[in-house]
This record gives sequence, structure tokens and C-alpha cells, in this order.
Amino acid sequence: MCYPYIVESRPIVGRIIIAARDIEPGEVIFKEKEMVVGPCKTKCHICVCCGRKVEESVRCKCQWFLCQQDCPEFFRHSEDECNILSQTNLDESGFDVYRGIMPLRVLYLPKHHLDYFLQFMDHGSEREDKFEDITNLIRNRWKQEKYCEELISRVEGILDVNTVEHRVPVGESIRGFLPITSLASHSCISNSIKDKTDEGYVTTRSKMAIKKGEEITFHYSGGLKGRFIRRKALRSGWFFWCGCSRCESPNELGAETSSLLCSSEDCNGIVRPVKPLNMDSVYRCDRCGMEETSDCIQAKEDILTAQLENCYSNDSVKIEELLVKSETKFHPNHFLILIMKWLLITSWGRSKGLENSSLSDEVLQKKIKYCREYLAALNILDPGISHNRGLTLWELHSAHTFLINRKFQTDRLSPVDFVAGLKESEKMVSEAIYCLQFNQEGTSEYQVEEMAKKALNNITQTIQFFSSMIPK
Ligand SMILES: [Zn+2]
Ligand SMILES: [Zn+2]
Ligand SMILES: [Zn+2]
Ligand SMILES: [Zn+2]
Repeated sequence: MCYPYIVESRPIVGRIIIAARDIEPGEVIFKEKEMVVGPCKTKCHICVCCGRKVEESVRCKCQWFLCQQDCPEFFRHSEDECNILSQTNLDESGFDVYRGIMPLRVLYLPKHHLDYFLQFMDHGSEREDKFEDITNLIRNRWKQEKYCEELISRVEGILDVNTVEHRVPVGESIRGFLPITSLASHSCISNSIKDKTDEGYVTTRSKMAIKKGEEITFHYSGGLKGRFIRRKALRSGWFFWCGCSRCESPNELGAETSSLLCSSEDCNGIVRPVKPLNMDSVYRCDRCGMEETSDCIQAKEDILTAQLENCYSNDSVKIEELLVKSETKFHPNHFLILIMKWLLITSWGRSKGLENSSLSDEVLQKKIKYCREYLAALNILDPGISHNRGLTLWELHSAHTFLINRKFQTDRLSPVDFVAGLKESEKMVSEAIYCLQFNQEGTSEYQVEEMAKKALNNITQTIQFFSSMIPK
């Protein structure tokens, strides 16, 4: 079989994954088994095998917790590991001891696996944290002096930047090391998504059509965030300054998620960074040329962030007040404005007391407008098969379909216009289903997809019914 990807080596960045042929949207690019799996940071006791939160009654013979006596992932907890962990009295230790399990499992890998693992980058020279607590734990408390400090700290350094985290159904996250998936680079507009499917396997799919020779990319962090937060998170977590096409574009490829509005009277210009890859770059108005320092722009964003954090996420009245006030200073697609719009979108028609039937036409219209603006940004930043787009389209359909039904029932919409409106709903829901097609049963996205399938059926039937009554 011809795999759709190849691994290539590039100077500075190291190994990357390239499409070996044209790839269709939604195609599986690779599916692989995790080489090692273990706990991340935890704030509660978890099963030492699968990471689920535990009831604190079932224990292994090493006295560490298990979710149940025959945990399906018991194989992760080897005999060696059981003996080593039995040296730590879990009841007298903090939760930090869980952090040592994953590097310990790496150290106990078969030699050829460990050698492969050690080829990955750890950015050791750039990091301040040398993981002394983990080195101490493994060497001294667990008596593994045969592993030197440098090796342990290198293992943890590699894990820190190369593992994939996923949530466990009940409990905290666990992290896994995937030999191929870990090679995929970051892009602030990625072309692939990864998903944990069958136990122990992670599937990588294309979000969109990928041309032969293009790099396969993921989003490590900060999808819809503005440039300051997003780029600093990548720098501190993965030790690089992102130079992707979105980061080097002053208007973020048209998404405008980091743009402000000019503060000069009657100007109405848009204020964007002049040299986007430089974090200290000044911002300049595209109309009057007025300039502001990056510190000044960051301060404005910090103030708005603090104001937003003071609002309860379901207090739609307060959020709307803040939105109206901020819209004079920030671009309608600025990421903080988009957060407020999203909070309103998911309050109106969803929160108790704010069901569609109790909303005025005006509020429903506003929800539709905000959904469309949010989608316009997502179409650029998170294109193709995306959960975010699917959920937004579902909200857009909800307000739109409710409003046209209300207008039709109160004789404010002709049958012809009603059918035309329903056809728009049909498109929204079909696209939502397309975006949500790869979610696992039990997730909230999966539930929305199921609801969307039912809604699509209803809409199609209603269109047929009314179309047959409209004289040609
Ligand atoms: Zn378990
Ligand atoms: Zn044990
Ligand atoms: Zn970027
Ligand atoms: Zn201006």
C-alpha cells in the first residue's frame, strides 16, 4: 500500500511530514499506536494504568491506585514498574509523584525504541527547567541511579514538547508519545486534526484537500487567539517563534483577529502590526498613519481581558454591554470581540430563560449576525472539517430556522420566501454535519451531529411539503 505521507529532514526544524500524494479532505493520513502512555500533571489520585480518576478503594499490590482490579490498560504497568513504585508510599506523597511515571516508562522501553525516542528534540539548551524534581524522584526515591541526570532530564524534555495530550473520559488528561504524529509541525492554520479513536490508537486526518508535497501540520496551541498570546504560548511551550503565513500577515490573512480600530476622531481606519513577526513592532492605522507601540496595544488587550474575566460567562446582559463598549476600539473580528460574540451565541437560545421562543426578532437577528461574523473568521483560521465551524453552523441554523418559522406563522413571510429560507437552513445543517462527521460517540460534538441529522430530515421534508403547494 502507498502511504499518503513521507518523512523528510530539513535544516534547523529537523524532521517533518510531507504529503506523498494529493490527499482528500477527511482522509486518514496515518493511524498509529502510542509507544508510551502515562499521566500528565494531576490534582487527584488516578489509575496508574489508564489515568481515570479513582474511588480510592482499589489498589495494586504496589499500593498505587487502580480504577478497577482488571483495568483494561493494566499492561501499561509492568512488573518492574510495580516493584519500583512500591517504594513510594502514595498516601504520604503529593500528586507530583505521578509525573515520574511517564519518563520511567520511557527509560524501560526496549533499547531500539529508546534509541528512536532519543533522536527527538528536547530544546535542552533553551529551557530553564532542568526537571530536577523528576530526576531526584527517579534516581533517589525510586533508586534508579543507573540512569544519569542528563538522560532523565533529556527524556522529560523530549516528552514535554513531543507528546499528545488527550482527556480521559473520567478524570485528568494523559499524554502519549506517537513516533510519527510527534513529527508533524505546528501551523497557526493547520491542515490536519488528530483524534484518539480505538484504545491506544491516534488517527490523523486531513481537514481539507492537501496537495502532494505540502507539509502535514497541526495546531499545538492557541487556535483563535490573537498574535501576542498565541505566539508567546508557542515560544514558551515549544521554544520557537512561529513564522507561519498567518503570523507573518499583518491582518492574519484577512481574519483580523489581532486588529484594532483607530482612536483618532472620525478616522475609522484599522490598526495592525507593521512587522508582524517582530513582537515589538509598532501598530499603524491604515488610513491616517497614526502609530501605537506594541506595549500600548498589549495594555488595551489586557484591560479588555480583565473586564471580560469579570463577567460571568452566562451573564449575557453584561457581556453585551462590554461588547458594545469595546466595538469602538477593537476590530469586529478581534479575538476578544469574537469570544464575547461566542458567549452571546451560546447564551441566546440555549440558556435557561433565554430559549429561542422568549427572544425577540432583534436578538435572533443579532445572533445570526454574530454567527456569520464568527464563521467568517473560522473559515480563514480553522477551515475545512472543524468542530468549531460545525458548532457555529449549528447555532446559526438554530436561530435562522426559528426566526423564519416565526415570521411565516405570523404572516410576515410568503411561502416562497419561507422555502427559500429553509433551503438556506438545509445548507447550514448539511455543512455542520460535514464538519462534525469524525467525532466519537459520547462527545458533545457527536450529540450535536445526531441532532443535526434529525433536523436535516425535518427541514428537507418541510421543503418538499411546501414546494408541492406553491404553484409553479
Ligand atoms: Zn484503569
Ligand atoms: Zn503495581
Ligand atoms: Zn503562526
Ligand atoms: Zn487613523
